[in-house]
Amino acid sequence: MREIGFSEHAYRFRQARGLLNSQADAMYDEDIEEYIATIKAARQMGLPVRLGIEMDYVASREAGIRDFLASFPWDYIIGSVHWIEDWGFDLPSHAHEWRERDVVDVYYTYYEILQQAIRSQLFDIIGHFDVIKVFGYRPPVNINMSAVYESTVRLMKDYDTVFEISTAGLRKPVREIYPAMDILTLVAKHRLPVVVSSDAHYPADVGRDFELALQLARDVGIKTVVRFENRQRYYEDLS
Ligand SMILES: [Zn+2]
Repeated sequence: MREIGFSEHAYRFRQARGLLNSQADAMYDEDIEEYIATIKAARQMGLPVRLGIEMDYVASREAGIRDFLASFPWDYIIGSVHWIEDWGFDLPSHAHEWRERDVVDVYYTYYEILQQAIRSQLFDIIGHFDVIKVFGYRPPVNINMSAVYESTVRLMKDYDTVFEISTAGLRKPVREIYPAMDILTLVAKHRLPVVVSSDAHYPADVGRDFELALQLARDVGIKTVVRFENRQRYYEDLS
């Protein structure tokens, strides 16, 4: 790797309080100025690091999210959905709630929120497109989700949003890359710009499984990957 992008979750910072939900607000109390100063200091030392953020999308908080994002000098902004109202569906501590939910309803609701996130145009990148599969709960085989996946991918194309291939799913209970191959094929078909990320929560996971991610991208005919600087895109050849 020639550079590393840091994209901490916004809800860890007190400056993002009130932009997600009361449960998330109570979890952390970090200072975003410290985060930004650390990355700036690394850059001044000549290290190739980029300043990013992973921001949850909540429709009712859009104005506040817009103000928060406009306040800092990001290289890139990832938009993600981890919550359906007060349910953090990808959190191990909330996983038991899957058993009480209608899985098909959950999937449709997740993609509705994701489509709103795309339409908001707040984000450079949409993170882990099919994270809803994280614990391995999937719609029954007689329910065909492909129309929802394709309309969401088309919407990303219409709004010129970058698609994230994330190797984090391989380390989650589902043990599958984000996204699944049928979705990645749609990404290639609609010629979406693509980033590859590891969503590392530990140093040892930085860049983990990138060889596989790049191979899968090539397999479906993706020719370039994007990197960011100051919210500008630069395209790198995959061949
Ligand atoms: Zn995430």
